[in-house]
Amino acid sequence: MSSPGFHMTPDEFRSAGHAMIDFIASYWEGLSDRPVLAQVAPGDVLAKLPEGPPDSPEAWGRIVADVDPVVMPGITHWQSPSFFAFFPANASPPAVLGELLSAGLGVNGMLWATSPAATELEIRMLDWVAQMLDLPPAFHHSRSGGAGGGVIQGTASEGTLVSMLAARRRAMNSGSVGGPLVAYTSTQAHSSIVKAAMIAGLAGHPDDRRQVRLIEVDRAFAMDPRRLEAAIETDRAAGATPFYVCATVGTTSSTAIDSVEAIGALSRRHGLWLHVDAAHSGAACICPEFRWMLAGIDAADSLCFNPHKWMLTNFDCDLLWTSDRASLTAALSITPEYLRNKATESGASAAIDFRDWQVPLGRRFRALKLWFVIRSYGVEGLRAFIREHVRLAAEFERWVRADERFEVAAPRTINLVCFRLKGEGEQADARNRALLEAVNSTGRAYLTHTVLPGVGYVLRMCIGGVQTREAHVRAAWDLLGEVAKRV
Ligand code: PLP
Repeated sequence: MSSPGFHMTPDEFRSAGHAMIDFIASYWEGLSDRPVLAQVAPGDVLAKLPEGPPDSPEAWGRIVADVDPVVMPGITHWQSPSFFAFFPANASPPAVLGELLSAGLGVNGMLWATSPAATELEIRMLDWVAQMLDLPPAFHHSRSGGAGGGVIQGTASEGTLVSMLAARRRAMNSGSVGGPLVAYTSTQAHSSIVKAAMIAGLAGHPDDRRQVRLIEVDRAFAMDPRRLEAAIETDRAAGATPFYVCATVGTTSSTAIDSVEAIGALSRRHGLWLHVDAAHSGAACICPEFRWMLAGIDAADSLCFNPHKWMLTNFDCDLLWTSDRASLTAALSITPEYLRNKATESGASAAIDFRDWQVPLGRRFRALKLWFVIRSYGVEGLRAFIREHVRLAAEFERWVRADERFEVAAPRTINLVCFRLKGEGEQADARNRALLEAVNSTGRAYLTHTVLPGVGYVLRMCIGGVQTREAHVRAAWDLLGEVAKRV
């Protein structure tokens, strides 16, 4: 339709767009005044929405006027300086502007030919971040001689899934698959590994352990490589085919670091694909002092990390590198006639069709926001951002240790402190649960919990917000101390 008034005019769009940016800027400015957790009950937002769509167009002003009363009460403020839950999901001004530009350009970069800039900017960004992490040449587009490289996925779950599919393809193509394929990870690994196995047909349900083994962890909650090797040997002796292991660099519960070095050595020895899930903690490895967490990465076949967690790039943006892109594309490439084109067939090294590196066909221009972020902050700026959060977490850990009511419940590696009120058994767990609920119900801070083996229920204080300063961390600690007196 092109009748007058059907679309916004460019001038109307300009003014609506400026107003929307104003709205976001004011939202960011006022974040510390809002309760962190959404203040609604299930169904409250639904009740404010008409059951059916409008037949006639509505004025833009009326639509936007509904955001405050309908949407905002149901928002949990992930960008609040007092959000300490889960892992962070940073949104920063350059990232949001990159997202907006990507939406405005509206391209689908499924093939090089469908937007060469989307593909080539992505190639360069993955190489930039590979340099920032000091990854070996095998993971770079420009240094691996076409054997490896990186790609943007939506999430770490997707990165892990496609790494498992690539590993399975490589195992099948090797001709050495005898019995059932078996994948390994630790009891502390993220649920996305078992989910990937469910999608790949290796597990019928989350507790199906016929083709997925969860290896026990050591006292620091890191995978025990001796137990891994024993499990591989037992499976092989029983006629199965071990094919894949996922090591976690920064587990979700406690940021425990599996030894990539030890697991890499034995995955080489036994011919397994090693995937490294550094979804959250990979961001810290842009700082040379934290790169020890990736020691031994040369032996890995793939690695993923999420700039959308702790590197100032709004959701979604997961980076996946592989040193074996042939196995990845062998698992995922299928070319119907309507996608054939000269650029692909030319085989030019820059003419990568990233559709062959992921599950969906279509893909957004996510490299733009990464480009804006890295250039706006510079590598030094991004490092300073990470270091400040780690410093604040160390400070928080010190306060916990100095208070005799509390204990630190797991070794702190970077920006996450696991802690709890002292005590053992169910009663202590219940007190800690009550403490967390009472703190969160104030709206003045938001923390989440986990259960650690051999410890029990623990609170997680993860410091990684764009606006979080020492005063916010201190206020959360004071609140915890105050509420602890009551539970
Ligand atoms: N892996 C780890 C270690 C995580 O902590 C998380 C999420 O917190 C994931 C994977 C899943 O991330 P995504 O939401 O990007 O799939």
